[in-house]
Formats: sequence, C-alpha cells, structure tokens
Amino acid sequence: MTALILDDRFARELPEMAVRWRAQEAPDPRLLVLNEQLAGGLGLDADWLRTPDGVRLLVGNSVPSGATPVAQAYSGHQFGGFAPRLGDGRALLLGELVDADGRIRDLHLKGSGHTPFARAGDGLAAVGPMLREYIVSEAMHALGIPTTRSLAVVATGRSVQRETMLDGAVLARVASSHLRVGSFQYAAATGDRDLLHRLADHAIARHHPQAAEADNRYLALFEAVASAQARLIARWMLVGFIHGVMNTDNMTISGETIDYGPCAFMDVYDPETVFSSIDMWGRYAYGNQPSMAAWNLARFAEALLPLLDDDLDQAVTMAEAALGAFGREYAAALSAGMQEKIGLSGADETVVAPLLEDLLTLLQQNHIDFTSFFRDLGRAARGDTEPARGLFADLAGFDAWLNRWRALDPDGEAMDRVNPIYIPRNHLVEEALTAAAAGDLSPVERLLTAVTGPFEERPGLQRYAEPAPEDFGRYRTFCGT
Ligand code: AMP
Ligand code: MG
Repeated sequence: MTALILDDRFARELPEMAVRWRAQEAPDPRLLVLNEQLAGGLGLDADWLRTPDGVRLLVGNSVPSGATPVAQAYSGHQFGGFAPRLGDGRALLLGELVDADGRIRDLHLKGSGHTPFARAGDGLAAVGPMLREYIVSEAMHALGIPTTRSLAVVATGRSVQRETMLDGAVLARVASSHLRVGSFQYAAATGDRDLLHRLADHAIARHHPQAAEADNRYLALFEAVASAQARLIARWMLVGFIHGVMNTDNMTISGETIDYGPCAFMDVYDPETVFSSIDMWGRYAYGNQPSMAAWNLARFAEALLPLLDDDLDQAVTMAEAALGAFGREYAAALSAGMQEKIGLSGADETVVAPLLEDLLTLLQQNHIDFTSFFRDLGRAARGDTEPARGLFADLAGFDAWLNRWRALDPDGEAMDRVNPIYIPRNHLVEEALTAAAAGDLSPVERLLTAVTGPFEERPGLQRYAEPAPEDFGRYRTFCGT
C-alpha cells in the first residue's frame, strides 16, 4: 500500500496544547471490527489494515514516518464544575489525513495507554465500551447525524481492571477535528492571548472558513459553532439520542457528536429520561440537552470574549445576541424536523404546532416507544392505523389526534425516510457486547448491519425493530469506561 501520510498541523500550530506521546505497546493486537467503507473513503487499503502491520498502525504501535502523535490538552466544565486540565488521558491524535473527498480528517486513538493527562486513570479502555462507541457512532452516521466515525476496534491482549478484569481494546476514530469548547477554555485559561488567537484561527481555517471573511471573524466563528450545534442538538432530539455527558470537553467546534460514553437512545418518550449512572440530578436528561448546549456555548463565548472586542461590555453584548440566535435556530430546526416526522413538512405552522404538542403529551402519558411510534405512524399515513393504535392504552385520545392529523394528508413515504426503524436499542447493544466479551462477534456484526441501514426495512431483522422485552428492566450506562 502507498505510505500513509499523516500531517501534524495541530501539533505545529498549537504546540502549547500538544504533548508528543506514543501509544502503549499492545502485547497481542487482534482486529475485532474494521470499517471497510470508511477505510476506503480515507484512501486506506482495508486488506492492508487487516495485516499485522495494518493492525499495528490501528493500535498506534507503528507510526507512519513523519507523523507526530500527540495527546491534546483541553479543559472542561464537568457537570458544571471547571476542571482546568483534562486533556487526552487515554487518547492520542495520530495526525491529520486528507480523505478521498479532499477533507482533512483526524486519525485518533482511544484506549492507547496513559498520557501526562491521565491523572488517576489507567489510560486504557475495555473491549465493550469501545465496541459500544463503534456501534453507536456508526448508527448516528447512518442516521445522517454529524459525528466522529469509527474505523476499527482492536483488542490489545492486555487486561484492564474495572469492576472485574476485562480485555483491553483501542478504538481508531476519525473526526473532522478534536477541537472542543474545552480546547478554547484551556487556551483562555493560560492567559496567553496569542495562543487563543492561533487556536481560533486554526478552528476557522479548519471548520468555518467563511468566518474569515466576516468583519468580526471571531464573532462569526462563535455564530458558526452555535449554528452547527443548534442543528446537531435538534437532530439528537428528533431520534431520541441522549448523549449523557455533555460536558464542555465533549462538545465539538465542528458540530460533530463526540465521545460515546454513557449515551443511549430513549425508549419510552419522556423528557426526563436519563441513563447515565453518574448523572444523579438529570443534568443531561433528554429534555435538558438544548439548554445544556446553550450553557456550554456560553462557556465558549466566555473563552472567546478577549477576541470579540477590546471593550468587555461590548464583547458580552455581542456574545449574548449570538446566543439568542442559537435558541431561535434550534427551535426552527426542531420544529421543521418534527413536521417531517409526522409527514407534514412545510404545513401551516399554526395548525401543526398544537398538533405536535398534543402528540408529545399523548406519547408521554401513554409511555409510548418513541422510535416504534413514528415508524408505525408512517403506516397509519398509508391507511394502516392498527400498529400505531395498538401502542396506546388511551385509544380515544389517540383516535381523536389521528383524525386531526390524517385530515392534513400526511406523506407516509417521506416519514419513512426520516423515522428510523432500526436504532441501537439498549437491550440489543447489551446483548451484542455480552456476546463479544465472550468471544462471539457475530451479534455485533448483525446489529451493525441493522443500524447502518436505519431507514430501510429488511427481512430477517424484525427483532431489531422491537422495543426491549419487559424483563430488560431499568437501563444504566457508565462513564469513565
Ligand atoms: P470523558 O468523560 O470520557 O470525555 O473523559 C473525561 C476525561 O477523563 C478526559 O480527559 C479523558 O481523557 C479522561 N479519562 C477517561 N477515562 C480515562 C482512563 N481510563 N484513563 C485516563 N484518562 C481517562
Ligand atoms: Mg471526552
């Protein structure tokens, strides 16, 4: 294969935020999953990646000549409290490559050993959580939601101590960058105005080049990030995705979803849904995600203030106006998306808004599975109302709603293009990871087959479309895995 060329632009332009580092040696690396399609799109030869040399690249043990792997520094507000020095405690940026479409992509490893940012952590990751990130991020991509991608999971042959001893793994992940709100908080906290400038210019060049043309390029950067996040969070809400740990170090400047730790898809519709075991107060509950995104953007604005205007009051006024735009753009994206979900795209807002409000009330009151409902509603648009009706205990209420809705002539085919039938349901993910831990990867592969074609109903995949069995119980997810 032609030599892989990895640039080190981040490390060169922002050396204060990059610590040169090497991945820990994996004693017995073994490829568990490889994303051949993504590899192809990156100009990488999938057959070569399967060879011992390819696998060594995927765990960071062979570094292409000229590449400079680094651990990136960043800060972060974690559950509201500021941690000035987080950084890649168990991850490395191998470098940047240019994909087949000419876009710059970070090639990054997670679980590759402790770094100077590891604090008390061991720098490692277990097979289960890395496969979990692979499955959920690829499902998100297939749903059309901006996200980091997963290239491969490699078992290292090293054990990891958690509650029990587990097999260690490294995830090779691809992103349009790993710049986070926390990266700006880190640069701002150093008090080095030049570093903050360089970081903002780097982010503009990489993600929001049109901001460079604006009168106030740093305000334009803020507006572009807020806009990308408004659209992203609306997309999460429309599929019932709950990130679970929306700390500022887990919010990207690109507008891609990042860090699939305790995330999960909502099953029964309830805005208070929380799965993460450490989110005791429901800070990152489904219904709080838009306001938490706004809170994070306010922290981003604070970090950028010195660049917005020399007059602090003036800078604050600008930032507040731009934050207001986030709220409006989010609301518009959500409402357009919800109209699509019920097959009434572009219909009269004054009619559809109350219809949607009443629907969400009915879903909540009747404990309805969010994903199944909208897919069944597509059938109802085509005349088969029984599957959707069968979900409801309060049939009179739903029938009244159905009549109002059907009178508006919803488009069932359009609904099937936005309402997924297959998502990584919690019980399916757990089932697949349990099998993988015991050495059987076929359930992971079957689940991936289902969720990477989320809108297209296929024979033999019926069980992937169904809600969890009654005895699955209350679902819990974990951080710091
Ligand atoms: P996260 O909540 O996964 O985004 O991680 C927050 C911070 O904890 C980041 O700085 C991670 O690098 C660090 N971290 C998480 N798990 C580990 C680990 N096992 N070893 C070292 N650092 C870790
Ligand atoms: Mg993180």
